[in-house]
Amino acid sequence: MFVTGRCHCEAITYEAEIDPEAVGICHCTDCQRLTGSPFRVTAITAADAIRLTAGQPKRYRKVGDNGRGRLQLFCPECGAPLFTTGEGPDAATWGIRWGSIDQRASLTPKGQIWCRSAVDWLPAIGGLPASDGDA
Ligand SMILES: [Zn+2]
Ligand SMILES: [Zn+2]
Repeated sequence: MFVTGRCHCEAITYEAEIDPEAVGICHCTDCQRLTGSPFRVTAITAADAIRLTAGQPKRYRKVGDNGRGRLQLFCPECGAPLFTTGEGPDAATWGIRWGSIDQRASLTPKGQIWCRSAVDWLPAIGGLPASDGDA
């Protein structure tokens, strides 16, 4: 599936070919910390399936619990998360942050990982008071 995407300030835009079946939720504590949210949704694709059409993301690297370097790519201007990848053989696979994809409404997660750190109130949000606007 062909998708387009951008960061919040539009300094960075991209296009990519993705598999709509390879969209998943991650509940890991790194995703919680990096997004400020309880979980993150990502579309996994090949490194060469993504083409930047404007701008250049900043890279943040941290070595994970498995001892391998993990890269977070985001807009240096607005801070919006865009991609993730690894190093060495891991660099062949990239993740595209779901919220940056223009066609995200048609991309439904097909699985979830790191459920042991999932917040326990997640199933209950359907019962919270709800508004279609900001109040
Ligand atoms: Zn931006
Ligand atoms: Zn994660």
